[in-house]
Amino acid sequence: MTNISRRGILKGTLTAAAGIGALSVLPGMTADADAQVQKDASYDLIIVGCGCAGMVCAIRASELGLRPVIIEKMPSPSGNTVYSGGILLGVNTKAQTEQNKNTSDTVDKFYEDLMIVSQQRGDKVMTRYFAEHCSEALNWLSDSIGIKWMNIVTEVFPAYERSHVVDGPSKPSGSQLAKQLMQAVNDRRIPVLFNTKVVALAGTESLEVTGVKTVSKEGTKSFIARYGVVISTGGFHANNEMVTSQMGGWAANMPIRGSKIISGENFTLTRPFFPKFVNTDQFHAGPIHGPTGANPSIMVNYGILVTGDGVRYIDEVNTYVRVAKETAKTVKGNWAFIIMDSEPRGISTVEERFARYSRAKAPIYEGASIKELAAKANINATNLEKTVSEYNKAVKNKTAERLTPPNTLSAPRSVVKGPFYAIPFQGGMTATFGGPLVNVKTQVINTENQPIEGLYAIGNSVGGIFYDDYIVGAQLTSAAVFGRVCAEEIAKKRG
Ligand SMILES: Cc1cc2nc3c(=O)[nH]c(=O)nc-3n(C[C@H](O)[C@H](O)[C@H](O)COP(=O)(O)OP(=O)(O)OC[C@H]3O[C@@H](n4cnc5c(N)ncnc54)[C@H](O)[C@@H]3O)c2cc1C
Repeated sequence: MTNISRRGILKGTLTAAAGIGALSVLPGMTADADAQVQKDASYDLIIVGCGCAGMVCAIRASELGLRPVIIEKMPSPSGNTVYSGGILLGVNTKAQTEQNKNTSDTVDKFYEDLMIVSQQRGDKVMTRYFAEHCSEALNWLSDSIGIKWMNIVTEVFPAYERSHVVDGPSKPSGSQLAKQLMQAVNDRRIPVLFNTKVVALAGTESLEVTGVKTVSKEGTKSFIARYGVVISTGGFHANNEMVTSQMGGWAANMPIRGSKIISGENFTLTRPFFPKFVNTDQFHAGPIHGPTGANPSIMVNYGILVTGDGVRYIDEVNTYVRVAKETAKTVKGNWAFIIMDSEPRGISTVEERFARYSRAKAPIYEGASIKELAAKANINATNLEKTVSEYNKAVKNKTAERLTPPNTLSAPRSVVKGPFYAIPFQGGMTATFGGPLVNVKTQVINTENQPIEGLYAIGNSVGGIFYDDYIVGAQLTSAAVFGRVCAEEIAKKRG
């Protein structure tokens, strides 16, 4: 780390570029690389990563008259945003008012729901701010970016009509969100350096962050940030080594449900500045057919869940997050099956998921009898017949909660009406929840509980808000809420 003071940079009394050039980042960095620094640019804020959080921050900063740059290691936005369902959550947004939805909903109720899902372990101040400002962020996405929403739908939990799904031709809807944010970035002429990886942060001896060092095909460069560097790199779910050390090998072997290049730069870049890392063992998971990427989602609640040995292994009341984690952790080879009959066919969620499996060319096995189904799906037939028969008897006698394991769904579905289906799935990894702790101003907090001057983090790179699980839609919403906050806080520094 170099000894350049922020004041020195701002006044231009130091050749800041030379200072950053002295930063020893990669082994073998040559004098030529340092000379290159002289030509490099400075910006008001440098945003590392071009996902929902980074783009929202850049657009808001530009609206506030700041000069941001986004640096992205891939040729286009390539993080979880483009793989996401494009669902965001709001309480009494303009869109909800227009659609006459949920006028009885309140910020307090939303806050409580968020805390229930994080098992009361989410940062209370951040969560409260999130609940209070989500609607402002969603309204801004409509008004400033031109995002249109489909019909607002009810989330599985807590069954309020808060789910705003981005509308438009690109599927999944998260890619539509990314497309429109990218368009807004381009319309505002915000520079984006693609194919450029940030490999280190630059800073002073007193641990203020002052810029970044990048690597691209053109070589290495350094950039000065007048007011701040913003980490919006996502988490570390695709970093096998980090997942193994934080959660264990069972988690590292889960197929990845989203981006395969999100590899933990929220840790590696910030570590030299001694941030406080929190919730590092926490992550989100979901069911997936690994080889094809087909996602059965809440179909796991529509039948019984069995292993290849034909036995139930979990209470089907569990959310798909818990089902995915348990499947990966306890079921041989991380392969299980949803066994259901034809009764739920016709329900839109079920048909949508059957169609997804078909489009992805993922198998759904079908049999006129349980025996035939077991043979087709290569499940132990004797055990499966016994499992289904015992389960149906329990459902009929209303004793399903006494099965081992119990089924505590309030209205468990019996498996009696052929044809029968076996839908294979694995527990898949969605994203990690750990990272540098931030305060409500999005400043990264160090191990002495002080903000690190010049260092901000937003989106999925951050630790603190999410723990164990989230209400579907909360992560993109958080990226939008705190992406805006970050730009606004940095604008305050300019005065
Ligand atoms: C299948 C799936 C469905 C989902 N559905 C939803 C949903 O409907 N609603 C919801 O709220 N959440 C959803 N999520 C979660 C949500 O997608 C993420 O939380 C959110 O997109 C994170 O946005 P982000 O901007 O923080 O990071 P990302 O979108 O992951 O972007 C990070 C960017 O940083 C870049 N980067 C990383 N390191 C560097 C570096 N060193 N230098 C330069 N660039 C770098 C990456 O290439 C990437 O483009 C879903 C996730 C998945 C996987």
